[in-house]
Amino acid sequence: MPSVGVTTFDGDAPTPVFVSVRPHVRGAGNGDSTENRGPLVMPVSGQLVDRYGRIHNDLRISVTDRCNLRCIYCMPEVGMTFQPLDALLTFDEIVRVARVARELGVTALRLTGGEPLVRRNLPTLVQRLSELGFNDLALTTNAMLLTPLVPSLKDAGLKRINISCDSLKPERFNSIRRRGVLTTVLEAMDVAEAAGLSPLKLNVVILRGQNDDEILDFAAFARETGRIVRFIEFMPLDAQGQWDNSQLVPGKEIFEQVSARWPLQAVDTDSSAPAERFAFVDGQGEIGLISSVTQPFCGTCNRLRLTADGAIRNCLFSDDEHSLRDLMRRGAGDDVIAHALRRAVWEKYPGHAINEPGFLSPSRSMSMIGG
Ligand code: SAM
Ligand code: SF4
Repeated sequence: MPSVGVTTFDGDAPTPVFVSVRPHVRGAGNGDSTENRGPLVMPVSGQLVDRYGRIHNDLRISVTDRCNLRCIYCMPEVGMTFQPLDALLTFDEIVRVARVARELGVTALRLTGGEPLVRRNLPTLVQRLSELGFNDLALTTNAMLLTPLVPSLKDAGLKRINISCDSLKPERFNSIRRRGVLTTVLEAMDVAEAAGLSPLKLNVVILRGQNDDEILDFAAFARETGRIVRFIEFMPLDAQGQWDNSQLVPGKEIFEQVSARWPLQAVDTDSSAPAERFAFVDGQGEIGLISSVTQPFCGTCNRLRLTADGAIRNCLFSDDEHSLRDLMRRGAGDDVIAHALRRAVWEKYPGHAINEPGFLSPSRSMSMIGG
């Protein structure tokens, strides 16, 4: 089934209605439907596939849990504790896991964190990962340290970049991200684009009462710059554990607001992508909606995550993880790493259960897992 939203118009008045036709899987129960079934036993060769037939070909690698900002939806202002440096994977260990994953059919890598650019010599890692031949090699960053690193990242083989930016108003930017400067981030966007790291995507977490009055400003920004603005729902992954529904602005509401001003049409897209893409009908760019909470896309999830301390995780919202670091440091061979990757995928639940009664936030927050 295609993973697109549908824009319909009611009569003469253009009343846009958001209808997501993503295949939804909510909570553990739904995955029992036989139409979702994959193999009956864990494969020992071929691609990484789970019980529900989802092929996993996208690996997110967190290179550090540290960060130079303290965004209100991610970390407390003070008191965040970080892993000791020797607990983090070395570049050799990261490259090794990536190589084994590549051999198991992973085609896309994204480097993230924490803030990936605070890890020293990141371009060296990018270069080594690039040599493994992934189709896609991308980075998610807050861009505070990006501008001077753009040439070396580009030369090292980085293909794309996502920049997080939650406000276009300098003071607001500062109050949401607590540290950092908007002009630095805007300048980095220009520099990255000029170097060919495009299409440039912006990640914008919309919070009720904080920046939900900027939805149209961001849509206008997308139209003016050609950058793809992706509106992200606030997820229960803040280290403070203060998430609640009242701060969440549903993707549907964002869609309705934007399309009432500038009509949108769904872009048919890769069904495993987290963002539902919508182009402006007049051809002036596009936006994305990442509605992880209200419109979960677990049914087509193809992602695995490697935390900075070397744990492989099959879901942002599950606490299940296996330490590849400990295996590697005990001298395990590549076959053992491969088996651990297969098992992590095989054990994946059909869907997260945020909307189910009794859901508990995972014990590790977004910056510890790697967003
Ligand atoms: N530090 C980098 C950055 O901010 O882009 C990369 C890591 S950050 C954890 C990755 C993405 O997760 C960012 O776009 C950030 O806005 C988003 N994020 C962090 N905490 C979140 C939360 N509780 N809900 C939704 N998105 C969140
Ligand atoms: Fe740092 Fe990114 Fe978390 Fe903000 S969202 S505190 S920049 S890791």
